[in-house]
Amino acid sequence: MSTDRAASCRRCRVYCDWLVEPTGCLGCPRLYAYDAASGRRYVGCVARVHAAEIDLEALERCQQEGRRFGGIRCASRPLPICSVVVEAAYPQRLPEIGCVNPEFHEPPGGGTFVITRRDHPLPPAV
Ligand code: SF4
Ligand code: SF4
Repeated sequence: MSTDRAASCRRCRVYCDWLVEPTGCLGCPRLYAYDAASGRRYVGCVARVHAAEIDLEALERCQQEGRRFGGIRCASRPLPICSVVVEAAYPQRLPEIGCVNPEFHEPPGGGTFVITRRDHPLPPAV
């Protein structure tokens, strides 16, 4: 398992990871393709934001039907062009004070985050 802090956070018991939606890779200049002996064409990420090689036909079918392929865990820091979200594995384990690493949720390529003062802990998750 990668311990790259840019792609995952383990500073509390929630365990957050960046996930990339690979239909967003179609058209990206960092997408490579190769033809397997089976005749299928597979695509992957030159930048190794994710480490998967995906059947291009299946990926294009998802895009044409307006469906998501499904998030793939990032292997390295996502780039601004990537279609990514932060997934929390156990959000119910969030500490009372909330996330202690809000910088992790900053969108790739910059952006800002908001610091909010809270006088009372969050209500328990149901
Ligand atoms: S850089 Fe991002 S959008 Fe481009 S192929 Fe890699 S994961 Fe996909
Ligand atoms: S909730 Fe915050 S501190 Fe906890 S794992 Fe996620 S990003 Fe890290």
